Amino acid sequence: ISGIVFWTAEELADYERIQEERIKYDHRRLGKQMDLFSFHDEGVGFPFFHPHGKRIINALTSHMRTLHRMHGYEEVSTPTMLSDELWKQSGHYAHYRQNMYFCDIDEKSYAVKPMNCPGAILIYKTRPRSYRELPLKLAEFGHVHRHELSGVLHGLMRVRAFTQDDAHIFCMPNQIEQEIRTILSLIETTLTKAGFGKPTIAVSTKPESAMGSDSLWEQATNALTSALDSLEMPYTIKPGEGAFYGPKIEIVIKDSMEREWQCGTIQVDFFQPENFDIHYVASSGERERPVIIHQAIFGSLERFLAILLEHHKGTLPFWLAPVQARVLTITDACASYAEKIKKELIAAGIRAEYTPSSDPLSGQIKTAQQDRIPWMIVVGAKEVAAETVTLRTLDGKQEFGISVATLIERARTLS
Ligand code: ZN
Repeated sequence: ISGIVFWTAEELADYERIQEERIKYDHRRLGKQMDLFSFHDEGVGFPFFHPHGKRIINALTSHMRTLHRMHGYEEVSTPTMLSDELWKQSGHYAHYRQNMYFCDIDEKSYAVKPMNCPGAILIYKTRPRSYRELPLKLAEFGHVHRHELSGVLHGLMRVRAFTQDDAHIFCMPNQIEQEIRTILSLIETTLTKAGFGKPTIAVSTKPESAMGSDSLWEQATNALTSALDSLEMPYTIKPGEGAFYGPKIEIVIKDSMEREWQCGTIQVDFFQPENFDIHYVASSGERERPVIIHQAIFGSLERFLAILLEHHKGTLPFWLAPVQARVLTITDACASYAEKIKKELIAAGIRAEYTPSSDPLSGQIKTAQQDRIPWMIVVGAKEVAAETVTLRTLDGKQEFGISVATLIERARTLS
């Protein structure tokens, strides 16, 4: 028997409110209400994204692609199925086999990838690399499959197939700090934009049995902490909790219903470079071993979407809203003007819609509010004559006489 005690009636009321909200805004419920995704017996644990769900995933992906482009990452794509030999070499076969899917093709055994790392390493190995090319940053939105027991599956939070916003950075040990600083700034930008507060950060250090020299561990761990210090990001140390192959940084975010979620990880890896025998030619002409940094900021796009939905209680920020603007008409006579406005907004990259409706404006506004559409673009005879629109936002504020050009400019600042 366990109990829970509160000092004040207010604390109890808060607790009860949060418990109710967690049920009301469960992402599985919101996903159905908002027609975002579904699950089917034909593929247990494999999510199906509906058009509006895919729009959100695409907005997340597009945000990350922009950051990648600005910071020198190149996007790659590696196969979903790769031969058993590769997974034996990477160690997944020995340590992760029970979570992998296998199949035979032409009497050869293949596995569906549970991680993207070996694929990126094969690309690195296709030709000799010079120190001048480093850091080489290969990003991949890799769709991975991991077998989980059916009892632990939970909506989009725990699935058997998901997309990682993965990146592998091949660099020299003395470049680790700069790279970590960049990744941390990408994490901060992304979390702020997604509407989260400051994350909790932990650095996991060398465990008892580890590979790599003490000096390499020290250099890498110092690089992680110096990067955090230089960005004035507070963190805790988890002594001995690093993987056997390198130290890592874990990022935990808190949502609006007092729950904590681990999202991003930054993992330094000394093992795979040695295991796959990769090198670069140093300025001295000697062959040296690079380090790999595994980076994931959203972690799993599916899971991040679930966290976002619950955190925002379904009302996503403008840049993520599946429908950003809906044109509403005061009279049927405005239909062709409404259609024109919709087309202009869509051409500018805004997810806009217009369906002719004979409902009174108040009814159309109510529906748009229920549909959680951030911008209601109201047009009537006055707007048609002036070639403007009235913008109504979810908080009920209205702005009159706005030009489409202004709307487009504003959408750009919010995207
Ligand atoms: Zn990796």
